Amino acid sequence: MNVYDSHSIAASLNSLGYKATSSINSADLIFVNTCTIRAKAEHKAFSFLGKLYGLKKKKNHLIIGVGGCVAQQEGKKIIKRMPHVDFVIGTHSIGHLPNIIKQMHIKKEHIVNIETDAIIPVIKPVADGRLREKITSFVTIMSGCDNFCSYCVVPYVRGRESSKNPDNILQEIECLVKSGVKEVTLLGQNVNSYGNKEGLCSFSELLKMINKIEGLKRIRFTTSHPKDLSDDLADCFKNLEKLCNSLHLPVQSGSNKILKKMNRKYTIDQYFNKLEKLRKNCAGISITTDIIVGFPEESDDDFNMTMKLVEKVQFDQLFAFKYSDRPNTPSARLGNKVSETEKKNRLQKILTMQKGITLLKNQALIGSCELILVEGLSKQQDKAQLSGVNGKKQWTGRTTTNKVVNFFMDNDPVCCKKTARDDTTKCQTALGKVIPGTMVFVEIENVLPNCLTGKPIWIEPN
Ligand code: SAH
Ligand code: SF4
Repeated sequence: MNVYDSHSIAASLNSLGYKATSSINSADLIFVNTCTIRAKAEHKAFSFLGKLYGLKKKKNHLIIGVGGCVAQQEGKKIIKRMPHVDFVIGTHSIGHLPNIIKQMHIKKEHIVNIETDAIIPVIKPVADGRLREKITSFVTIMSGCDNFCSYCVVPYVRGRESSKNPDNILQEIECLVKSGVKEVTLLGQNVNSYGNKEGLCSFSELLKMINKIEGLKRIRFTTSHPKDLSDDLADCFKNLEKLCNSLHLPVQSGSNKILKKMNRKYTIDQYFNKLEKLRKNCAGISITTDIIVGFPEESDDDFNMTMKLVEKVQFDQLFAFKYSDRPNTPSARLGNKVSETEKKNRLQKILTMQKGITLLKNQALIGSCELILVEGLSKQQDKAQLSGVNGKKQWTGRTTTNKVVNFFMDNDPVCCKKTARDDTTKCQTALGKVIPGTMVFVEIENVLPNCLTGKPIWIEPN
C-alpha cells in the first residue's frame, strides 16, 4: 500500500515539475513515506529523518516532508523532535500535497496537515512511464479498516474502511493496461469486505468485472481477512481464469484463546474449513500467511498450537513478526507481556520450521512445467553477464502461485513435454522473443534460496 502511495505522491510531485533522482544529495525535495505497523518501522523512519539533518544544514532550500502512518500518528510532534522537517502530511491529506509544496515555495513555514475529514485521496492513475511498474502494478481499491484487531494501529492511522467506486477502479486498471501493465494486485486491508459498507458491488463481483478487461493477464489481491472470506470468493478461484492461484490469508495465531484476545473473530476450525474449500476449488492454490509471535499472555502451549497449525497447513510461505506494542491499541494495555528473548526464540522456531516446508514445496516443483509472466531481467542478470554466460539473458517472472522463477533464454529450445494445461498443442510453435510481459512455460530444474530456476519450453508468440 505504501509503494502504491509513494508512486501516487511521485506522480503528484511530477505534475509540479519535480523529477525523481537516485542521488539524495542532488534532491531539492525529499518526501519520506512512513509506516508504523510495528515499533521497528517507526524507529527506522525517525532514524532516516535524523540523517537528513546534515543535508538540510548544507542546503537551505531543501524541502523535507513526512507522510504516511507515522505522520498521521505523531503529527506536529515530528517537527518538535526534528525541526529540519518542513512539513508533515497525514494519510488522509495526500490530495493537499501540491498546495502545501506551493505554499512552501512562497513562504517556508512549518506545515502540519493531519486532518481526517477527507475520504480517499483522489489520485490520478499514474501515466508517467518512469513511475509505473511496467508489467505489474498495485491498485488500491479501498482504504482504512474497521476491524480493530486488538494489536493493530491501522484503524487509528488509516481511518475507517472506505471503498473506491468500481467504475473508477475499472478505469484505473484499463489505463494501466493501455500503458503496458499485464498484472494487477488489488490492495486493501480487508478486500473481502469491499463495497459492503457503501452498498457497492461485492468483491467477487468486482473481480468478475476486472476479469473481463482485455489485455489484462493476471489478477492478484491482498489482504483477505479469514472471517470475511465468502464461498463466492472461493468460487472465483475456480471460475475466473485471470485470478492467480494464490491467496494471502493471515491467521496470526494457532490458539483460539489468543485469536479471541486479538479480536480476530474466527476460530482455528473455521480457518481450516475455509482452506479446505479453497483447496477443493483450486488444487495447488498457494496459501501464505502472517503470524504474530509473543502476543501478551501467549503461553508455551499457545505457541505450540501455532507451530502445529503451521505444520498442518503447510503454507507456501509465511511472514512472522514479533508482537510490538502500538499506540492506542487495546493489547498495548494488556499485562503479562512476553519477554523480548522469548519472542525472538519463538520467531526463530517458526521461521526455521517454515523454511523446511517452503523448501520441500519448492523441490516438489522440480520437473513440472510452470507458466510464468515475465517481469523483466533478473537481478542476477548483471552478474551473469559479467561471468559471460554465452551472452544469454536471464529473465525473471512469477508463477500463478506467486513463486519467482529465473531462466536463461536458450537458443535451441525443446518442445513442451508436459504441461498441466491444455496448451500442449501450442508447444509446437517456435520460440518467440522474450520481452517483459511475455508468458513462458518454464520447466523447473532447480531450487535456490530465493527463487526457482528452469529452462523455457514454450513462449507465447509476440
Ligand atoms: N490487514 C491485514 C494486515 C495488515 S498489517 C490483515 O488483517 O491481515 C500486516 C501484518 O502485520 C499483520 O497481518 C500482522 O501479522 C502484523 N502486525 C500488525 N500489527 C502488529 C503488531 N502490533 N505487532 C506485530 N505484528 C503486527
Ligand atoms: Fe489491522 Fe486487523 Fe485491520 Fe488487518 S484487519 S489492518 S490486522 S485491524
